[in-house]
Amino acid sequence: MAYKRDTICVQGGYRPKSGESRIPPISQSTTYFYESTQGMADLFDLKADGYFYSRLANPTVAAFEGKVAALEGGVAAIGCASGMSASTMMAFTVCNAGDNIVSSSAIYGGTFNLFAVTLPKLGIETRFFDPDAPAEEIEKCIDENTKIIFTETVANPSIKILDFEKIAAIAKKHGILFAVDNTLATPIFCRPFEWGANVVIHSSSKYLDGHAAALGGVIVDGGNFNFKGNSRYASFNIPDESYHGLVYADLAVAPFATKCRAQMIRDMGAIMSPQNAFLSWLGCDTLALRMERHASNAKKVAAYLSKHPKIDWVWHASLPENKYHALAQKYLPDGQGGMLSFGIKGDVHQAAVFMESLRLITQETHVADVRSCVLHPASTTHRQLTKEELEQAGVPENLVRLSVGIENPEDILADIEQALAKIR
Ligand SMILES: *Cc1c(COP(=O)(O)O)cnc(C)c1O
Repeated sequence: MAYKRDTICVQGGYRPKSGESRIPPISQSTTYFYESTQGMADLFDLKADGYFYSRLANPTVAAFEGKVAALEGGVAAIGCASGMSASTMMAFTVCNAGDNIVSSSAIYGGTFNLFAVTLPKLGIETRFFDPDAPAEEIEKCIDENTKIIFTETVANPSIKILDFEKIAAIAKKHGILFAVDNTLATPIFCRPFEWGANVVIHSSSKYLDGHAAALGGVIVDGGNFNFKGNSRYASFNIPDESYHGLVYADLAVAPFATKCRAQMIRDMGAIMSPQNAFLSWLGCDTLALRMERHASNAKKVAAYLSKHPKIDWVWHASLPENKYHALAQKYLPDGQGGMLSFGIKGDVHQAAVFMESLRLITQETHVADVRSCVLHPASTTHRQLTKEELEQAGVPENLVRLSVGIENPEDILADIEQALAKIR
């Protein structure tokens, strides 16, 4: 039965048997006991489902994976150590040296570094495109070695909203895997698989955990991409010598997630810890409720800032004048999330006075948890980027990123008001 998202938040991913604990126990164990050698052998051969070593799978992590897979409407998920390890494992699952990723330039700074600096050292190149460019422009980045088209639903920190149908059509036309980082939208506001995405990743360190308590990432397999006979994905169509000759494209369910876990997680060990999986699972219980409040608070703050004389510009798709308002109405009609960016009139100095004058809202290298926080990306998360790269990533130097929490909106607005008043 297909439950609604708020029901999945509290009921998904774990169902105890009679007499078992109602919520998933923290299976703080590296290994698992088996009575027979054959039972263990079947697990190694992927003939049976079960646990044998926590670098591959763990019951607490599986509960979290199951909840996120259900929320996104995917067929399988993999809990990773962090959002960055999720994007790295995603890339390695399909890319070898010589391959390339075609990525939106409006993405999280850490992912930009991974794609622009680290993966090239391993022979995997990234071609960046402006997500607002017409399809013909974006298509020019694609060649026979392109393995992923990568985007973010709501870009961090430029708050651009993705035109899913445009990108999905390009991916489909060329038979390329379409992967989306859905961290800032969450499945409460947008489910990318419904719009043609094939893989969804999350930094669960953000809204899914929601309490700034547990680092984590998730890769969700939409189960809607045909690898079989697709010459672009040779590694899915030839036997995996490291897995007894398994041909991933032949698997009826989740070839992407299976290859990712059986090869990449096995060899690189980027799995989520049971403790973090437990906290993230628990966080998801209130995801739907929290997102509603994050979005309504952010909408109020955006409306307030957009009329303030000391504010240059505000980016939040709830504003009717926002360039992405129409796309947001289509793809995120129930709420555009709790993140907004704005520019304070003046230079970096005025921004610093504002940030340091805040009392309730704190300066943090984090976003998307219950507490409101601010950050100046150009001097923190994005400081490795050159001025040109900052422009390309849609992060002007005077941009302040505000992650609106779930406090009472009047308190949030009062804090912003008194801090803006300190700017002379
Ligand atoms: C934070 C973030 C990441 C990286 O996640 P970590 O859990 O910090 O490794 C990736 N994508 C987006 C959109 C993020 O906000």
